[in-house]
Amino acid sequence: MVYREWEDIAKEQATPARLLKNHIQLNRVNHAYIFEGEKGTKKGEIAHFFAKTLLCKNLDQDLNPCNVCKDCKRVNNDTHPNVLKIEPDGKFIKKEQVQNLIEEYSKTSLEVSPRINIIYEADKFNLSSANSLLKIMEEPGEDIYQILITENYNSLLPTIKSRAEAIHFKELDRNLIRQELKKQGIKSSYAHPISQYTSNLEAAKAIADDEEMIEIIDLVIDVYKALLTDNQSAIITFLEKNKKILVDNDKANFFIELMIIFQKDILQTKLDKEDLCFLDQKSIINKLADKIDISYAEKALKNMLELSIRTKYNINLKLALNKLLMNLERGYKHATYSSRDSI
Ligand SMILES: [Zn+2]
Repeated sequence: MVYREWEDIAKEQATPARLLKNHIQLNRVNHAYIFEGEKGTKKGEIAHFFAKTLLCKNLDQDLNPCNVCKDCKRVNNDTHPNVLKIEPDGKFIKKEQVQNLIEEYSKTSLEVSPRINIIYEADKFNLSSANSLLKIMEEPGEDIYQILITENYNSLLPTIKSRAEAIHFKELDRNLIRQELKKQGIKSSYAHPISQYTSNLEAAKAIADDEEMIEIIDLVIDVYKALLTDNQSAIITFLEKNKKILVDNDKANFFIELMIIFQKDILQTKLDKEDLCFLDQKSIINKLADKIDISYAEKALKNMLELSIRTKYNINLKLALNKLLMNLERGYKHATYSSRDSI
């Protein structure tokens, strides 16, 4: 995505937008920044926009780049000679890559214009390439800027950290993730639970594109539907489709997390709260909420949360999930249930 104005960025990353814009306004742009935050937080795109803002000579009164001049167009097309990108060549960013950069600097630029290096996965310097970079950072040319991008701020070398201003990029708002998924044609009945599961846009898109993950969302709904009626069994519903889930830890985890989200919806309903994730299943959620008392709703949720933690260890998933569903079946279907029973 190509950003065109600060306002677009502020909607997604308010703090970085405010800081960077201020630096331009006050004429105090740093020679080195570290953009750090989770995958999918738009660090690269915003670095690109920032480079465009530094290069465009026709900023408007809100400091937006004009988007029509030669500089803007070349940044937008990724062809600007003064915006150089480095990413690891294999496991590391190599010394030669940094030396190539230095060589570029030594050539006199035909146009007097800033040069911006965008360095991806900046935690992947080895010692010799880091030393080369440090030389540039210690004596930055007048108009030379480094933007280092990383998902692992703690793995950056301290010498690099101390010479740059770090800007934290927070995970995107869940509403934004829903909107992005909907733009891609994902139904809201899927976009809502996915955005509840992850606040990482890239991960959310990957799930939405994965048919098996979508099937798991359907399975969770089917399992809860089965808990409503006496002639259907949640366990049998699960067993019919569980093969794909049990062989893959990510999928098992996704299944359990979605079971948790659904159970939370039931608990919310019991507490008369409106804030539901599985909005399209409201009538089922209401009926399930009627079948149990609050203490059971809480207890079932607690057991699922514990299971979610246990899946990180080497447990027998098949057994654990069967037990969970058996207990749910008992809890939701047996009128004789007492809240003192363990589920
Ligand atoms: Zn421009």
